[in-house]
Amino acid sequence: MARKGVVFVGAIWTRYLKSRIGYAQKSGKSPYDLIVLAAAKDGMHKPPEMTTKQWCKLNETRLRALANMVKKQQEAATPNELSALWKAKKINPASDAFLETYEWRRVRMEALKKYGARCQCCGATAADGVRINVDHIKPRKLFPHLALSLDNCQILCQPCNHGKGNWDMTDWRDAEPIQEVQLKDVKLRIF
Ligand SMILES: [Zn+2]
Repeated sequence: MARKGVVFVGAIWTRYLKSRIGYAQKSGKSPYDLIVLAAAKDGMHKPPEMTTKQWCKLNETRLRALANMVKKQQEAATPNELSALWKAKKINPASDAFLETYEWRRVRMEALKKYGARCQCCGATAADGVRINVDHIKPRKLFPHLALSLDNCQILCQPCNHGKGNWDMTDWRDAEPIQEVQLKDVKLRIF
Protein backbone atom coordinates (compact mmCIF):
# COMPACT_ATOMS: atom_id res chain seq x y z
CA MET A 1 0.00 0.00 0.00
CA ALA A 2 2.65 2.53 0.97
CA ARG A 3 3.62 3.60 -2.52
CA LYS A 4 4.82 7.06 -3.27
CA GLY A 5 2.42 9.41 -4.96
CA VAL A 6 -0.70 7.41 -4.14
CA VAL A 7 -3.66 9.26 -2.70
CA PHE A 8 -4.99 6.33 -0.73
CA VAL A 9 -2.28 5.65 1.81
CA GLY A 10 -2.36 5.36 5.55
CA ALA A 11 -3.65 3.16 8.34
CA ILE A 12 -7.27 3.94 7.65
CA TRP A 13 -7.08 2.42 4.17
CA THR A 14 -5.09 -0.58 5.31
CA ARG A 15 -7.72 -1.23 7.93
CA TYR A 16 -10.52 -0.81 5.43
CA LEU A 17 -8.96 -3.20 2.91
CA LYS A 18 -8.21 -5.71 5.62
CA SER A 19 -11.80 -5.72 6.83
CA ARG A 20 -13.28 -6.06 3.35
CA ILE A 21 -10.91 -8.23 1.32
CA GLY A 22 -8.36 -9.58 3.75
CA TYR A 23 -4.92 -8.11 3.72
CA ALA A 24 -4.08 -5.45 1.17
CA GLN A 25 -0.85 -6.83 -0.23
CA LYS A 26 -1.92 -8.79 -3.26
CA SER A 27 0.62 -9.19 -5.96
CA GLY A 28 -0.02 -7.41 -9.22
CA LYS A 29 -2.76 -5.20 -7.88
CA SER A 30 -2.46 -1.48 -7.39
CA PRO A 31 -3.96 0.22 -4.31
CA TYR A 32 -6.71 1.50 -6.60
CA ASP A 33 -7.57 -2.01 -7.74
CA LEU A 34 -7.77 -3.12 -4.12
CA ILE A 35 -10.00 -0.25 -3.10
CA VAL A 36 -12.35 -1.00 -5.99
CA LEU A 37 -12.56 -4.63 -4.83
CA ALA A 38 -13.21 -3.56 -1.25
CA ALA A 39 -15.80 -0.92 -2.12
CA ALA A 40 -17.75 -3.47 -4.15
CA LYS A 41 -18.35 -5.29 -0.86
CA ASP A 42 -20.02 -2.13 0.39
CA GLY A 43 -22.19 -1.85 -2.70
CA MET A 44 -20.13 0.77 -4.55
CA HIS A 45 -19.34 -0.47 -8.04
CA LYS A 46 -16.95 0.98 -10.58
CA PRO A 47 -18.40 1.29 -14.08
CA PRO A 48 -16.33 -0.72 -16.57
CA GLU A 49 -15.46 2.27 -18.72
CA MET A 50 -13.42 3.93 -15.96
CA THR A 51 -9.99 2.94 -14.74
CA THR A 52 -9.68 2.04 -11.08
CA LYS A 53 -7.55 5.12 -10.54
CA GLN A 54 -10.03 7.51 -12.15
CA TRP A 55 -12.88 6.02 -10.21
CA CYS A 56 -11.09 6.11 -6.86
CA LYS A 57 -10.12 9.72 -7.30
CA LEU A 58 -13.59 10.73 -8.40
CA ASN A 59 -15.16 8.99 -5.40
CA GLU A 60 -12.54 9.82 -2.84
CA THR A 61 -14.95 11.53 -0.44
CA ARG A 62 -17.42 8.64 -0.41
CA LEU A 63 -14.65 6.09 -0.13
CA ARG A 64 -13.10 7.94 2.76
CA ALA A 65 -16.48 8.01 4.50
CA LEU A 66 -16.70 4.22 4.13
CA ALA A 67 -13.22 3.75 5.51
CA ASN A 68 -14.02 6.03 8.43
CA MET A 69 -17.16 4.09 9.17
CA VAL A 70 -15.22 0.84 9.36
CA LYS A 71 -12.72 2.50 11.67
CA LYS A 72 -15.50 3.66 13.98
CA GLN A 73 -17.16 0.26 13.97
CA GLN A 74 -13.93 -1.49 14.82
CA GLU A 75 -13.17 0.95 17.59
CA ALA A 76 -16.59 0.54 19.12
CA ALA A 77 -15.50 -2.00 21.64
CA THR A 78 -18.56 -2.29 23.83
CA PRO A 79 -22.05 -3.51 22.92
CA ASN A 80 -23.43 -0.14 24.02
CA GLU A 81 -21.22 1.68 21.57
CA LEU A 82 -22.26 -0.66 18.80
CA SER A 83 -25.90 -0.08 19.73
CA ALA A 84 -25.38 3.66 19.59
CA LEU A 85 -23.82 3.36 16.14
CA TRP A 86 -26.68 1.17 15.02
CA LYS A 87 -29.26 3.66 16.27
CA ALA A 88 -27.39 6.45 14.53
CA LYS A 89 -27.71 4.39 11.31
CA LYS A 90 -23.95 4.12 11.03
CA ILE A 91 -23.90 0.36 10.85
CA ASN A 92 -24.84 -1.21 7.56
CA PRO A 93 -27.32 -4.07 8.19
CA ALA A 94 -25.33 -6.12 5.67
CA SER A 95 -22.07 -5.74 7.60
CA ASP A 96 -20.42 -8.06 10.09
CA ALA A 97 -20.66 -5.34 12.75
CA PHE A 98 -24.44 -5.65 12.57
CA LEU A 99 -24.17 -9.25 13.80
CA GLU A 100 -22.53 -8.00 16.97
CA THR A 101 -25.15 -5.45 17.93
CA TYR A 102 -27.40 -6.12 20.87
CA GLU A 103 -30.40 -5.38 18.63
CA TRP A 104 -29.58 -8.30 16.34
CA ARG A 105 -28.51 -10.67 19.11
CA ARG A 106 -31.82 -10.14 20.80
CA VAL A 107 -33.81 -11.00 17.66
CA ARG A 108 -31.47 -13.93 17.08
CA MET A 109 -32.16 -15.30 20.56
CA GLU A 110 -35.91 -14.89 20.03
CA ALA A 111 -35.64 -16.93 16.83
CA LEU A 112 -33.78 -19.69 18.69
CA LYS A 113 -36.43 -19.68 21.42
CA LYS A 114 -39.21 -19.83 18.85
CA TYR A 115 -37.83 -22.58 16.61
CA GLY A 116 -35.19 -24.36 18.65
CA ALA A 117 -31.52 -24.74 17.77
CA ARG A 118 -32.13 -27.22 14.97
CA CYS A 119 -31.56 -26.67 11.26
CA GLN A 120 -34.96 -26.15 9.67
CA CYS A 121 -33.63 -27.42 6.35
CA CYS A 122 -31.79 -30.66 7.21
CA GLY A 123 -32.62 -31.18 10.89
CA ALA A 124 -29.01 -31.09 12.14
CA THR A 125 -28.19 -29.86 15.64
CA ALA A 126 -24.99 -28.96 17.44
CA ALA A 127 -24.86 -32.59 18.56
CA ASP A 128 -24.22 -33.49 14.89
CA GLY A 129 -21.11 -31.37 14.98
CA VAL A 130 -22.49 -28.45 12.98
CA ARG A 131 -22.70 -24.84 13.94
CA ILE A 132 -26.22 -23.45 14.09
CA ASN A 133 -26.94 -20.06 12.50
CA VAL A 134 -29.94 -17.77 12.60
CA ASP A 135 -30.42 -16.96 8.94
CA HIS A 136 -32.15 -14.04 7.24
CA ILE A 137 -34.56 -15.60 4.73
CA LYS A 138 -34.53 -12.42 2.70
CA PRO A 139 -30.84 -11.44 2.76
CA ARG A 140 -29.76 -8.38 4.74
CA LYS A 141 -27.88 -7.09 1.75
CA LEU A 142 -30.99 -6.91 -0.44
CA PHE A 143 -33.57 -6.26 2.30
CA PRO A 144 -31.83 -4.18 4.94
CA HIS A 145 -35.15 -3.05 6.43
CA LEU A 146 -35.88 -6.70 7.36
CA ALA A 147 -32.58 -7.22 9.16
CA LEU A 148 -34.27 -7.12 12.59
CA SER A 149 -37.54 -8.78 11.63
CA LEU A 150 -38.17 -12.00 13.56
CA ASP A 151 -40.51 -13.02 10.73
CA ASN A 152 -37.53 -12.96 8.40
CA CYS A 153 -35.47 -15.36 10.51
CA GLN A 154 -35.01 -19.11 10.26
CA ILE A 155 -32.59 -21.57 11.81
CA LEU A 156 -30.01 -23.15 9.52
CA CYS A 157 -26.88 -25.14 10.17
CA GLN A 158 -23.63 -23.74 8.80
CA PRO A 159 -23.45 -26.02 5.72
CA CYS A 160 -27.07 -25.27 4.73
CA ASN A 161 -26.58 -21.57 5.33
CA HIS A 162 -23.35 -21.56 3.40
CA GLY A 163 -24.96 -23.27 0.41
CA LYS A 164 -27.84 -20.86 0.48
CA GLY A 165 -26.03 -17.63 -0.35
CA ASN A 166 -27.61 -14.28 -1.09
CA TRP A 167 -29.61 -15.46 -4.07
CA ASP A 168 -31.80 -18.03 -2.36
CA MET A 169 -34.82 -16.99 -0.31
CA THR A 170 -36.32 -20.36 0.51
CA ASP A 171 -38.36 -20.35 3.66
CA TRP A 172 -37.57 -23.65 5.41
CA ARG A 173 -39.85 -23.04 8.35
CA ASP A 174 -42.51 -25.62 7.48
CA ALA A 175 -41.94 -27.69 10.55
CA GLU A 176 -43.79 -27.01 13.78
CA PRO A 177 -41.82 -24.84 16.15
CA ILE A 178 -39.97 -26.83 18.77
CA GLN A 179 -41.28 -25.83 22.15
CA GLU A 180 -38.79 -27.32 24.54
CA VAL A 181 -35.69 -25.24 24.00
CA GLN A 182 -32.82 -25.42 26.37
CA LEU A 183 -31.45 -21.93 26.15
CA LYS A 184 -28.57 -22.73 28.44
CA ASP A 185 -27.38 -25.42 26.03
CA VAL A 186 -28.01 -23.23 23.03
CA LYS A 187 -25.75 -20.54 24.35
CA LEU A 188 -22.97 -22.94 25.18
CA ARG A 189 -23.08 -24.80 21.93
CA ILE A 190 -23.51 -22.03 19.43
CA PHE A 191 -20.81 -19.57 20.26
ZN1 LIG B 1 -28.84 -27.94 7.73
